[in-house]
Amino acid sequence: MIFNEVITERKLIAFTFDDGPRPEWTPLFLDVFRKHDAKATFFVMGSHIEQYPDIAKRIYEEGHELGNHTYSHPSLPELGKEQQIEELERTDRLISEVTGSRPSTFRPPYLAVNDDLLEVSAQFGYSVIHAVNLDSRDWDTVDADHIVTTSRAHVHNGSILIYHDGFGDRSQTLAAISILVPELIAAGYELVTVSELLASASR
Ligand SMILES: [Zn+2]
Repeated sequence: MIFNEVITERKLIAFTFDDGPRPEWTPLFLDVFRKHDAKATFFVMGSHIEQYPDIAKRIYEEGHELGNHTYSHPSLPELGKEQQIEELERTDRLISEVTGSRPSTFRPPYLAVNDDLLEVSAQFGYSVIHAVNLDSRDWDTVDADHIVTTSRAHVHNGSILIYHDGFGDRSQTLAAISILVPELIAAGYELVTVSELLASASR
């Protein structure tokens, strides 16, 4: 099943970050969430966990969720089912080594799915996680104002917001997050992991 958001009566929001962990940026995002005692979900690439295991460990130790974002970030619908399984399996194992348990959430690169992939992700027991604020396009050359404004327009109970900590220069994303996190907390939202958000679903 694919989730852009979760229907819930509680004021919960899930921030998500793709393509890390990366040493230049991931720790800075973690610092923002630590400062505000908030939680997020990091959809990590297996190849980056191998490169930066200490940062993956820090994500986990600070109470955040690690979700599967494949090993090498291919467009999965272009691969056969066996290769899809390999991409997920390898990263599933790497995350398990960090956290001691298997991930339960998965975000396909480019949000690209086909029927084979939905079958495979169901076999893994994964919830497939998209997001509501695709127009924020933080991976593109947009400024922090654009990211903040578009994100605000999608803030409601159960929103899943997508950003990147592991791709290129993330300074504008970091600036936007540094505004949005305290702002949403002040507005009464609790920032939770995707799994916590899914668990809160009212239907
Ligand atoms: Zn990605």
